[in-house]
Amino acid sequence: MSLLIRVFFLAAVGWLLYRSYVRWQTGNRRDTPPPEPLQTVARCEGCGTYLPVQTLSPQGRCGACEQKRS
Ligand SMILES: [Zn+2]
Repeated sequence: MSLLIRVFFLAAVGWLLYRSYVRWQTGNRRDTPPPEPLQTVARCEGCGTYLPVQTLSPQGRCGACEQKRS
């Protein structure tokens, strides 16, 4: 009888440890910022410089080339 209680107690402790471990893992995952999206690089039509797509104009030119053009 005492052996059964001991086994049950150990199982309960193990389950609690597992639960806290899972909660700690998910909490850690929530704290870490999401991975940055891979930056797409495109070539400027004017000067041929490779720049992040977000910095290029809709025409595919960098800021300096856009100013030169207008
Ligand atoms: Zn350019």
